[in-house]
Amino acid sequence: MIEHAPAPLARAVRRLSGLLRQWDGPLTRELLRRPGRFGLGQVPAGKAPDATTTAVCGYCSTGCGLDVHLRDGEAVNVSPRKGYPVNRGAACPKGWQALDALSADDRATEPLVRDGSGRLAPTDWDTALKTFVARVKDVQRRHGPDSVAFLSTGQIVCEEMALLGALAKFGMGIRHGDGNTRQCMATAVSAYKESFGFDAPPYTYADFEASDVLVFVGANPCIAHPIMWERVWRNPHDPTIVTIDPRRTETAEASSRHLAIKPKSDLALFYAVAHVLFERDALDHAFIESHTSGLEAFRAHVADYPPETVAEAAGIAAADIRWLAETIARGKAVSFWWTMGVNQSHEGTRTAQALINLALMTGNVGRPGTGANSITGQCNAMGSRLFSNTTSLLGGHDFKKPADREKVAGALGIDAARIPETDSWAYHEIVEGIVSGRIKALWVIATNGAHSWIGQSDFRRYLDRLDFLAVQDMYPTTETAQRADLILPAAGWGEKEGTFINSERRFGLVKKVARAPGKALADFNIFKLIAHYYGCGGMLAEWDSPEAVFRILQRVTRGQPCEITGIRGYGHIEARGGIQWPWTEADAAAGEPDTERRLFEDGCFPHADGRARFVFDPPRAMPEAPDAEYPLLLLTGRGTSAQWHTETRTGKSAVLRTLHPEQLQLELHPDDAARIGARRGEAVAVESRRGRARALVHVTRAVRPGEVFLPMHDAATNRLTNPAFDPHSKQPAYKGCAVRVRRLAAWESEVPA
Ligand code: SF4
Repeated sequence: MIEHAPAPLARAVRRLSGLLRQWDGPLTRELLRRPGRFGLGQVPAGKAPDATTTAVCGYCSTGCGLDVHLRDGEAVNVSPRKGYPVNRGAACPKGWQALDALSADDRATEPLVRDGSGRLAPTDWDTALKTFVARVKDVQRRHGPDSVAFLSTGQIVCEEMALLGALAKFGMGIRHGDGNTRQCMATAVSAYKESFGFDAPPYTYADFEASDVLVFVGANPCIAHPIMWERVWRNPHDPTIVTIDPRRTETAEASSRHLAIKPKSDLALFYAVAHVLFERDALDHAFIESHTSGLEAFRAHVADYPPETVAEAAGIAAADIRWLAETIARGKAVSFWWTMGVNQSHEGTRTAQALINLALMTGNVGRPGTGANSITGQCNAMGSRLFSNTTSLLGGHDFKKPADREKVAGALGIDAARIPETDSWAYHEIVEGIVSGRIKALWVIATNGAHSWIGQSDFRRYLDRLDFLAVQDMYPTTETAQRADLILPAAGWGEKEGTFINSERRFGLVKKVARAPGKALADFNIFKLIAHYYGCGGMLAEWDSPEAVFRILQRVTRGQPCEITGIRGYGHIEARGGIQWPWTEADAAAGEPDTERRLFEDGCFPHADGRARFVFDPPRAMPEAPDAEYPLLLLTGRGTSAQWHTETRTGKSAVLRTLHPEQLQLELHPDDAARIGARRGEAVAVESRRGRARALVHVTRAVRPGEVFLPMHDAATNRLTNPAFDPHSKQPAYKGCAVRVRRLAAWESEVPA
């Protein structure tokens, strides 16, 4: 194994394997170092900029600051903002090419309504809005208000999310609405709420630079969050970087040590690590006694998980588990970081909490370089968590608590009776509602479930059962929009204003630097028009601009752990290089916010007793393990730093398209390739019980024997995945389903996937 080789040899092997992998970490680092070489950020000929403004990037949750260069008031290109505390002058390829998605040929420029012949035909806004309201009200009249649902996104600004949530739930009587953030962040939300008492990622990016031990679990920041990875490289403490992942990812290759565990053995592994920490009494007793509860029950639970028992199931040696525990015990500032490898699991919440438990028992919370830290995915997933009015009532409140409903109603100036008393159905429950006939109309905003939802083929069929499907999007060409009865053309990032919240809880500003094409409108304006046509516009009279909504949201957060009453508006956010929550009026009275702030420095957690909880459960079997018929386990994940999710936007960029493979690539171990008889570059069929994908073979030891990997960006990947869910967060388990791989017959090779 690489990690056991002498250092120079290990380095050479790493370099060689890095070069052999096609679209890898070294390429990303080269992209960051010499972007111009790849055509990133070129100014169009004859369009020399005459002014510059700033905005935060609209792709991932890192929240990089960009300089937007203008010509006659319109953006002509962007470059990374040097003084911004997040990215400090760097940007990944997506950020450099942020404008490309705006000028795509297939932008939605006018509303489209499906006519009697089944064709999507152009119409005007008045007709489109009357159609929307008439169809929604007709469904509600015939089937009740709960028969209409919405699916939203982590890609629109906080103010639009909040307006949508208020309009739908308090104005239109829609109870069920969820976001595509269910696919990425729900697990972190449920884990933090139960363990800490509030959905509160505790870290600030400076913690990447302050740790002496960093543990990455199911995370590949090297390509998924390359600017965060840059912050790791700036760490001056010669840190030990441990990556725990079944796949030898780009991050694993660049780490001090890679523990290539068997898929979904992570929960038992972390219990075994806790077992060793108890065994050698490597506990922070003072922290535990003052700030936590439930330690003794946790000690009893992990007594059943000695490393020697867990090792075989985890696929690593007991000595490796003891080494990991020892490394954590010796670390002065240990930080734990996770993303989708944990979140997208059938037991993701308990796995995230197992990491939280390790941080709590060793006192690695609230100090520089520490924390149990979930890295978010979408640019405004964090905004969705606080303000979308889906999982939580606005501002992190609880729909089920009368006092919370009264408080939010008071802040909004509405009757509390308008606020639903129960939680919304989660995404998959809404899908089940369509199947059972309880959901008859669906309003989809800026997401493409017909590509991204787990077990996608079924989802596409279910959409076709609806009485009415409205899609609000920048593009009428997505797989979801193509099934719509009505398409409402929306402006994109850069064509409207508002705020995003990044992974470290930092509000950043989005600016209008381009005109939306044709008749496309900002989502904010579409929601306002729908409110007017629906007849509930008066309730939202105060919500007359994004900044006015921001002030409402400030009121809603009063007294919450996420309170932001101390922010003096958009100008304040801009002047400070973003502001992290919380920032209260009381904080503001004492001065300006520091650039980097972490939570729980006082050891006080948001539970009523101020203590964090140890939460645990026994591991459960994978919902669909490989068997004789489908002998391989499919892992999915991000492909390259140039691709974003369903590629609805990044796929529009000619520059970004050159930075990833043209066709779907299947990572296959040499042993499996030999068994199947498949050669590098050969087209094969990847089949699960739910569907089939065509991919080109990439023979690599990055995956273990018996496991294969497909990037999630190709629409074919989610034909295969298995709709299984974490019971606590209701997040889909994208990271494991049984598949088989077979060579294609000659005639099949000619048939498109
Ligand atoms: Fe944008 Fe994320 Fe890339 Fe930064 S790392 S430029 S926020 S996509």
